[in-house]
Amino acid sequence: MDGLKFSWTQWIPFRPWRLAGIVEAADEVPDRLPPKAVVMVGTEDYAKWLAFDCPCGQSHRILIPLDKAKKPHWRIEGRTRLSVFPSVDATRAGVRCHYIIRDGRTKWV
Ligand SMILES: [Zn+2]
Repeated sequence: MDGLKFSWTQWIPFRPWRLAGIVEAADEVPDRLPPKAVVMVGTEDYAKWLAFDCPCGQSHRILIPLDKAKKPHWRIEGRTRLSVFPSVDATRAGVRCHYIIRDGRTKWV
């Protein structure tokens, strides 16, 4: 077994939240997204929505407004290690998913 070293970080690479793509309309967001991949709806200059699958594992889609004209709206920073401001707080069928996405990581609240 000489030299055989297992590395968990190799097996389960850290996948940061990242901007996977930009589509023009909400119905162009793929039904299935890789974990922690977010899709922006709109254009580079005019972001309307952010769509991704909730990291809670119950596979529900989160759609939050980025449009500055809307209240409330969220703001994103970074592309490969995404941050979303403020926190994501989704309640659905009595289950609350509340977390912060910062520098590509999920911090549950
Ligand atoms: Zn959830």
